Amino acid sequence: MQKFKRIGVLTSGGDAPGMNAAIRAITCAAIRQGVEVMGIIGGYSGLINEKLKPLTTTSVANIISRGGTTLYSDRCLEFKTEEGMQKAIATCKKYNIDAIIAIGGDGTFRGATDLSLHGIPTIGVTGTIDNDITATDYTVGFDTAMNTVVNIADQFRDTCQSHARCNVIEVMGRDCGWIALMAGIASGAVAVAIPEIPFDEAKAIEKIKLEKAEGNRGMLVIVSEGVFEEVDGKKVPYGKLLRERIEKATGIETKFARLAHVVRGGSPSLRDRFTASKMGVRAVELLLEGKSDLIIAEEYGKLVPIDTHFALTVDRMYKNKLKDGDLDGFSPEDIEKMKEICDIRTAKIQRYYDLISKTS
Ligand code: ADP
Repeated sequence: MQKFKRIGVLTSGGDAPGMNAAIRAITCAAIRQGVEVMGIIGGYSGLINEKLKPLTTTSVANIISRGGTTLYSDRCLEFKTEEGMQKAIATCKKYNIDAIIAIGGDGTFRGATDLSLHGIPTIGVTGTIDNDITATDYTVGFDTAMNTVVNIADQFRDTCQSHARCNVIEVMGRDCGWIALMAGIASGAVAVAIPEIPFDEAKAIEKIKLEKAEGNRGMLVIVSEGVFEEVDGKKVPYGKLLRERIEKATGIETKFARLAHVVRGGSPSLRDRFTASKMGVRAVELLLEGKSDLIIAEEYGKLVPIDTHFALTVDRMYKNKLKDGDLDGFSPEDIEKMKEICDIRTAKIQRYYDLISKTS
């Protein structure tokens, strides 16, 4: 058992519902083990600028139901520099912070692994609505975000039905289509456009015409914000273009709505509170077992600690962003495992995508 006197916890990058549940779980689990907890305000910038506050079981008692992050979040470029890193390490030393649990997405984990390499043990807990970390089946915040989209889509459906309209809804997800895909299935969308799979626009328009001919008055199309089209050499978000084309081709009045950051907010769902609680407790256990430089992934419903460098590399492999040398140092078995993870994810997204045409 590792003897830590005090650990730090931070949230960084894009906020996600469930981050507070993770902060609460980490704080309670650590304090029950006799370890103090320092909350770091505003992600890595709080570490650089000594913005800290002690957390207690009382101070986190009522945050489980709150969206956003009570520790606030930030995007801190300075942390990527060696000077920034040295300031962060000096803060850890000054305030006797022996280890850090970082809640966030892939950028946050890149920062965490850098800290580990500089001698501060870290564990990463996922907190991103996008579900875009390839090494894990699930990221905290995803369920709430999907449900937010479904609830809003249902409201659009009501008004579309009344006025015989179509509504194109653009949803967050960065370059990952999971929120759009799952919310599209669950809201009965006629079509869903995501970055991972080529979109058959002609087929979608034919489907809308057919539905209209069959008497369907209200139709929804969900488009992920990560889908673009090149127009005059510029990347144009696809949702607005699609709205115009549907209206022109079908004669159906078609509206466009960009949900943007509303998808990030709101009280976390049970799934997100539960997963955040489990991951938070596991993160403390791992640190106390002397482990470091890991993120906690979920595989087939089980929590599995994964080496951060492995997780970030498989992510780049899946997103076709591998650079020369990225695979150096990994064993052939590791590389096989990475390919397997990518193949499983590709097959899963295709399987779910196929549900759209089968169910609408
Ligand atoms: P997310 O964690 O949601 O992916 P970002 O990509 O914005 O969000 O990353 C959050 C923060 O993590 C950044 O503002 C920066 O402080 C830190 N970070 C990101 N990439 C790196 C990196 N390569 N090295 C060190 N720190 C990084």
